[in-house]
Amino acid sequence: MEPPESAITQRILIVDDSAGARLLIETALRAQGHSRFTSVDSAQAAFHALAMDAEPLNAPPEFDLILMDLLMPEIDGIEACRQIKSCPRYTDVPLIMVTAEESPACLKAAFEAGAMDYVRKPVNRVELGARVQSALRLKQEMDCRKAHERELVELTEKLRRLSQVDGLTEIANRRHFDEELVRAWRRAQRQYESIAQPQNGSIALVMIDIDHFKSYNDEYGHLAGDDCLRRVAEVLRTAAKRPFDLVARYGGEEFAVLLPDTGGAGAEVVAEQMRAAVEASDIPHGRSRLGRVTISCGAAAARVSGLEPASLIATADRRLYEAKHAGRNRVVGAAEEVRSCA
Ligand code: GH3
Ligand code: MG
Ligand code: MG
Repeated sequence: MEPPESAITQRILIVDDSAGARLLIETALRAQGHSRFTSVDSAQAAFHALAMDAEPLNAPPEFDLILMDLLMPEIDGIEACRQIKSCPRYTDVPLIMVTAEESPACLKAAFEAGAMDYVRKPVNRVELGARVQSALRLKQEMDCRKAHERELVELTEKLRRLSQVDGLTEIANRRHFDEELVRAWRRAQRQYESIAQPQNGSIALVMIDIDHFKSYNDEYGHLAGDDCLRRVAEVLRTAAKRPFDLVARYGGEEFAVLLPDTGGAGAEVVAEQMRAAVEASDIPHGRSRLGRVTISCGAAAARVSGLEPASLIATADRRLYEAKHAGRNRVVGAAEEVRSCA
């Protein structure tokens, strides 16, 4: 019976206090095409070869299969097996007990300690080869399954991240913004109910719209318009300083900024910084009054107490509209905290 190609490269640890037994096992397996062995004469030496206390604890194992003599001085095979199997690196590595002792109690103890199979002593070459081969095949299948599972987890995570990002500007998209707003809202509500301090339970939003963007597209073309959106997004993202601030593309040439734990005055400051940063980035716009791209902002904040997130968005949106009407390139907010968004 030929071992599969990959089995030949799999690493086998032979643990036996008898040099003769080690040689016999190794010779038998070599005859079947296996070549990667380490042979040791005690459980202690096996622990060393297995690098059981190496960091990290879940590092890839040093061996693909362990053949363990049951009767050994000091630490016997069953205890050694128990210790090896309690090590995270080796929980999935098959261990075959090699034993002259075939009493049911002894075999039960070996299986309970984590052995997956046993081979009788004196070792029969054919039996040994068949059991080693099936153990290695099982290990290989398990490795494949685990690799697939890992790939799937990574892919799912990648898809999750992609589903939160706007394809053009690579900042958060509307869907992610909506989810984060609800999440921040709940957190603010909990804080509001627990500790009544001025900034607790406060949440702020800035709604942003690029001024005269239709004429930018008309003047420079849609591709240049896309480029402009990317640049403005980058400026806004850089202007948001706190780790939980979230800048998202809300739609078309509109952006929304979520500012958790922020009051009305803070939101206005952030909005003004963003407005000034876009102006300072000096993106030419021949059809705008300043000759460059500008934004208008509406800021709103609320101490969350039974209101809905939509009411905060509506307030910020209304103020954005006011900023447009007041001449664009400006921020409209309410420095004092808004208690009702109506
Ligand atoms: P205002 O100052 O009042 O905001 O005027 P505006 O021209 O910016 O507003 P309007 O809503 O009339 O036009 C928005 C424009 O944004 C129209 C649309 O073609 C453009 N736009 C929306 N999404 C994109 C996009 O993904 N890429 C490009 N290039 N343009 C976009
Ligand atoms: Mg618009
Ligand atoms: Mg606009």
